[in-house]
Amino acid sequence: MVQSYKHEPFTDFSVEQNREGYLKGLETVKGYLGQDYDLLIDGERISTEDKIVSVNPANKEEIIGRVSKANQELAEKAMQAAVKAFQSWKKVKPETRADVLFKAAAIIRRRKHEFSALLTKEAGKPWNEADADTAEAIDFLEYYARQMLAIKDGVPVNSRPNEFNRYDYIPLGVGIIISPWNFPLAIMAGTTVAAIVAGNTVLLKPASTTPIVAAKFVEVMEEAGLPKGVLNFVPGSGAEVGDYLVDHKDTRFVSFTGSRDVGLRINERASKLNDGQIWIKRVIAEMGGKDTIVVDKEADLELAAQSIVASAFGFSGQKCSACSRAVIVEDVYDQVLNRVIEITKEKQAGNPEDTSNFTGPVIDQAAYDKIMSYIEIGKQEGRLVAGGEGDDSKGYFIQPTVFADLDPEARLMKEEIFGPVVGFTKAKDFDHAIEVANNTEYGLTGAVITTNREHIQKAREDFHVGNLYFNRGCTGAIVGYQPFGGFNMSGTDSKAGGPDYIMLHMQAKTTSEMY
Ligand code: NAP
Repeated sequence: MVQSYKHEPFTDFSVEQNREGYLKGLETVKGYLGQDYDLLIDGERISTEDKIVSVNPANKEEIIGRVSKANQELAEKAMQAAVKAFQSWKKVKPETRADVLFKAAAIIRRRKHEFSALLTKEAGKPWNEADADTAEAIDFLEYYARQMLAIKDGVPVNSRPNEFNRYDYIPLGVGIIISPWNFPLAIMAGTTVAAIVAGNTVLLKPASTTPIVAAKFVEVMEEAGLPKGVLNFVPGSGAEVGDYLVDHKDTRFVSFTGSRDVGLRINERASKLNDGQIWIKRVIAEMGGKDTIVVDKEADLELAAQSIVASAFGFSGQKCSACSRAVIVEDVYDQVLNRVIEITKEKQAGNPEDTSNFTGPVIDQAAYDKIMSYIEIGKQEGRLVAGGEGDDSKGYFIQPTVFADLDPEARLMKEEIFGPVVGFTKAKDFDHAIEVANNTEYGLTGAVITTNREHIQKAREDFHVGNLYFNRGCTGAIVGYQPFGGFNMSGTDSKAGGPDYIMLHMQAKTTSEMY
């Protein structure tokens, strides 16, 4: 009997034993830094001359590893392997498919601190953020396995005398999984295993900045007993391999998480019919955000300030759910802003291996340059009240930055920056605050800090985001508790970690038999 689902607890690093565990994980990771990793196609490891080099964003000199790079020819080979493997994998019992996920969860749980330490090295995650990423990966494995078991015998529909009806979910076929670097373990693993447990076979193309943790995860899935050809690992350039696979006639669905522009490109290309293609491709696309915390005048203002800082600067604001806008009702604007400035000034960006730093680096030079250019725009549009400095000499460090007195229409208030920058704007009253909160093209997360019950109800109805939180920050959705996904340009609202997520990777078949 499978135990009921409970999310993986976060590690308390104030406990000495846990600190030691993490440091031991770091030693394990140091022992394999700089190694080479292969592609995995049909169970065969393939090495190429051309490599993706993964570096530590906190220390550019440190090479995390090198991963072989797929080209179109190898992508085609992987596609053929996945097409072939689908014929057998789709017939494997759901219980057996779920067992692979349960075992993979157990393996990662045993190596939890090692995986977290690798996330610190490869993605620049502070200990607590890395630990949350690993815990979420475990959660996805545990949760999707149970979801598959829950629907393995179909979903009830009515039958009548002498007529027996069934409604079953069957897999789709070959899926392309394209994942981002900001949750390089959790989102990469979650999107991959949801597709697999549903009976599909996949090609996994991880983000080029964080391929090593993906390679390690693929090893875990092999160890857990996944048959060859079900998960094919094809790191490579998004533009070259990504386009080729999205366009391919044998691609049945694409599961993408990443930026708005790439998501829209995939959606458009996937809609074109190619020679020999006999289906409409399905696209699951989870994209960007411009997420807001609204603070009412009747509110716990300390909670408001702490929530803004934690949601804006955790992992340097590089979460699709990060708070990048604070909309404050004017009566309490100065109080909240001043407290946020005070707390922010205590928060330092630095090497994430050192726990005295609140946050680590941003992911790479392109991100650093983009964020610093937004800081320059912010100086024109508003008042810089905290942070604003960057240093890319050793790693890509940007200090937590606050801009005050922005116009709700300012670029800083509407465009996704994806860095440790939060903009403040004043609202006349609560209704106005919700109006401003809704003024972007995105609709991913939001939070409202208020003690006014009517305002909670108004926000429930009118604040148009996929994940809305009251009296807490806007980051940190937990699998199975707060299914995650956004509206509008934030994506197809697929709600990862939710009860209907794996159905998106399946199609329903009705059968009706007369007795
Ligand atoms: P990205 O630049 O869009 O990249 C995401 C993935 O797409 C990478 O694997 C990338 O490969 C690949 N890619 C690039 N061009 C492609 C193409 N033409 N065809 C197919 N694939 C292509 O996004 P990112 O910088 O990794 O991630 C940050 C973004 O993700 C932010 O906008 C954030 O809000 C969003 N995000 C959303 C969610 C959510 O659940 N809504 C969660 C996390 C992140 P390369 O690395 O090789 O370029």
